[in-house]
Amino acid sequence: MSEKKSCIFCEIINDKNKARIAYEDEHTLAFYDINPVALIHIVIVPKIHLANVNELEDSNIDFVASMFTAAKNVAFTLKVNSSGYRLVINNQSSAGQTVFHLHMHFLAGRDFFWPPG
Ligand code: 5GP
Ligand code: ZN
Repeated sequence: MSEKKSCIFCEIINDKNKARIAYEDEHTLAFYDINPVALIHIVIVPKIHLANVNELEDSNIDFVASMFTAAKNVAFTLKVNSSGYRLVINNQSSAGQTVFHLHMHFLAGRDFFWPPG
């Protein structure tokens, strides 16, 4: 995969012992968040370093599709497909992004509210 030095998510992709893995396929890795904000909080990342949605290109479509496949798989595996789950992608600092490797938060196990904070 294309990686960036000093990116914690690239480090986890390269050494899966650094996180608790929830799901993996050719294009995607999903692992438990180190600082969960819900009973179930998993981070789904493409196995390619893109800072966020701004850097997506047409050639990355397989990675995007796999992120959603990962989300569905996690939802069914953890049996929250019926009770509900929220998928969040923060892009840039004002949206709350702190790790600049594209990722989708998978959140479940409690009620969520709208609009988000
Ligand atoms: P962001 O704020 O960029 O949308 O989300 C980054 C997420 O990555 C945060 O929820 C944060 O807790 C999580 N995170 C940051 N560093 C690590 C790490 O080293 N391991 C794991 N498992 N999660 C991390
Ligand atoms: Zn990265």
